[in-house]
Amino acid sequence: MIQVSHLKKTYSNGLQVLRDVNATIGRGEVISIIGPSGTGKSTFLRCLNLLESPSGGSIIVDGQDLLSKKTDVAKMRQKMGMVFQSFNLFNHLSIMDNLCIGPVKLLGKSRKEAEERAMELLSMVGLAEKANAMPSQLSGGQKQRISIARALMKDAPVLILDDSVSAVDTKTERNILQSLRKERKGKTTILIAHRISTIEQMDKILFLEDGSLTAVGTHQQL
Ligand code: ADP
Repeated sequence: MIQVSHLKKTYSNGLQVLRDVNATIGRGEVISIIGPSGTGKSTFLRCLNLLESPSGGSIIVDGQDLLSKKTDVAKMRQKMGMVFQSFNLFNHLSIMDNLCIGPVKLLGKSRKEAEERAMELLSMVGLAEKANAMPSQLSGGQKQRISIARALMKDAPVLILDDSVSAVDTKTERNILQSLRKERKGKTTILIAHRISTIEQMDKILFLEDGSLTAVGTHQQL
C-alpha cells in the first residue's frame, strides 16, 4: 500500500530530521511507529500525508508517486485520514457537527446518513451521549476519542494517527484499538505509540532512531 524509499527531511532551519527512511507498509496492516521523543515520528507521518514536503526520496501510495509533479495531491489526500496530536476539532461546532461536516460538505453524503454513521462511531468510542456537547465541554481524552471517530467518518484507505491514543487510559485504549481493527478491516492504519500495551497489539512496529528506521518487526520479534 505504501512504499517509502530513501525519504529525507531537513527543516528550513537546517535541522535534518529524516536521513534515510525506508519502509513497506501493507494493505490492511495496523502498524506503530516508536522511538525517542524528537526523533521525527510526527515529521514522518506528516510527510506521508504531504503536510510537510520531503527533501528527498520517494513515497508511493497505491502505485502513485506522491512526490511526482503529475500527482493530484488533493486526490491523494482523499485516500488518507489523519488524527492530529492537537485533535483539531472545530470549537464552534457541536460534536455531531464536527463529525458530519466533512462527509456532508466534501463527500456529498446526506445529513441523515452522516448522522447515523456518526452515532455508530460515537458509540464505538464510548461517547454517544456527547453528540450534542461542544468540544470545550470535553476532557482531553474525550476530545481525542472524538477526533478518532471523526477521522473514521472518512473511511480512507490509509488512516494516520499522530500520537492519538496516549491521552486515554489503557483499558479505553485497548477498546479503541480493537474497534479500529474492526472498523478498518482490510485498510491500513499507522499510529505513533508510546505504551507497550499499544505496540503489543500491532501487526508491525517501525523503530525510528537517528533519522532512519533501525528495526522493523512484530513485538515478539523485536
Ligand atoms: P517526534 O514526533 O518523534 O517527537 P517530531 O517529528 O515532532 O518528533 O520532531 C523532530 C524534530 O524536528 C524535533 O527536533 C523538532 O523540534 C523538529 N521540528 C518539528 N517540526 C519542525 C518545524 N516545522 N521546523 C523546524 N523543526 C521542526
